[in-house]
This record gives sequence, structure tokens and C-alpha cells, in this order.
Amino acid sequence: FLVRRGGAVAPAALTVLAGPTAVGKGTVAGYVRDHYPEVALAVSVTTRAPRPGEIEGVHYHFVSDTEFDRLVDDDELLEYATVHNSYRYGTPRSSVRAALERGRPVLLEIDLQGARQVRERMPEARLVFLAPPSWDELVRRLVGRGTESAEEQARRLRTAEVELAAQDEFDELVVNDTVPEAAGRLVHLMGLTKEHA
Ligand code: 5GP
Repeated sequence: FLVRRGGAVAPAALTVLAGPTAVGKGTVAGYVRDHYPEVALAVSVTTRAPRPGEIEGVHYHFVSDTEFDRLVDDDELLEYATVHNSYRYGTPRSSVRAALERGRPVLLEIDLQGARQVRERMPEARLVFLAPPSWDELVRRLVGRGTESAEEQARRLRTAEVELAAQDEFDELVVNDTVPEAAGRLVHLMGLTKEHA
């Protein structure tokens, strides 16, 4: 774990937020985007279609399979993965580089496979695991949002069980009890000055 002096955390240039399905990674990252403008969220590319309210270039860059293949072939992605056996997601190197060059701390909200690739390629990255307050709460959140079939829910929960066991690979753990508190702790762990211990 990080060396802390008087509650201060050394600033990280690049932080990865990962965690199991339905834990609220997207919501916490969205809260950081809205309340901590000093943090740059790297915009991922994805082959899935936009959901209502999602904006091209803000939530994702929505690309075709062909375009995704090209990005992979041209080595333009820092990491990429097929998530939940369906669509592909990846982090463009350019979006990370642009933010780092502007001196802003960068946050990546990605899945566990992607987090492992970032660890390999950028060992200096800080990896934060977002955990649910309890297993029952994770199940409640997944079922409650009602966006997956019962079969898909069961499949994601089996993956979540494996993913929860991987939290030891991470530098830091944040429990997502309430979104503002989890976002505050995350930003604190990124070494930004806001006081949240
Ligand atoms: P959603 O489709 O709900 O926006 O995201 C589904 C999953 O994809 C989430 O677990 C999210 O963390 C993951 N994800 C989003 N962007 C990326 C990315 O750039 N790389 C990887 N590896 N996973 C991503």
C-alpha cells in the first residue's frame, strides 16, 4: 500500500478504477467527471451502440468492428478486452497521452482484464479496486438495474465471484457504499488534495 505522510498521498499520473459488474464503476467515474474537473477521464472506444443519453466523445467513442480492428492493428490501444462476452472496449493511447501532457491526473474506468494489461505496460499506474459493501448488495444492484436477462445476471455473478478474488492484485481498495464518498476516497487516493481518508 502507498506510503502516506500525515494523511497525504503521493500524486499518481495514471489511476485505474476496476471492479466487478454492477459495483458502480461508471457511476463513480461519472461523479468524478462532474465534481472533480481537475481529473481527466480517458474516453474509451467501444463497439457497442450508444444508450439513450450517451454522448459520442464524452461517454465513449462509438466505433464499428472494422474500426476497432484497425485500432488494434495499428497498436493505438493501451489495453483492450471483450467484456461480458459481447462487445469490445479499449483505451486509446492518444487520449491518455493528451491528458498526461496537459499535466492532468488521468483516470481509466475499465474492466479487470484491461487493468491487468495496464499494470504490465505501465507499472507506475495506480490500481484501485472498487468493491461492493457486501455480496448481497452487489446482487441487489445487478438485479435492481434490470438491464440484463436472468441468464446474463447469473453469468455476470459467476464472473464477479472470480473478480472479487482478484482484489489483492490492486494497490488500493475503495468500497462503494455511497457514490459521493467512494468518489471522494478515489480522488484522495489519486493524490489530489481533497481531504477524504
Ligand atoms: P458499459 O457497456 O456498461 O458502459 O461497460 C461495460 C464494461 O466495460 C464495464 O465493466 C467497464 O468498466 C468496461 N470498460 C469500459 N471501457 C473500457 C475500456 O476502455 N477497456 C476495458 N478493458 N474495459 C472497459
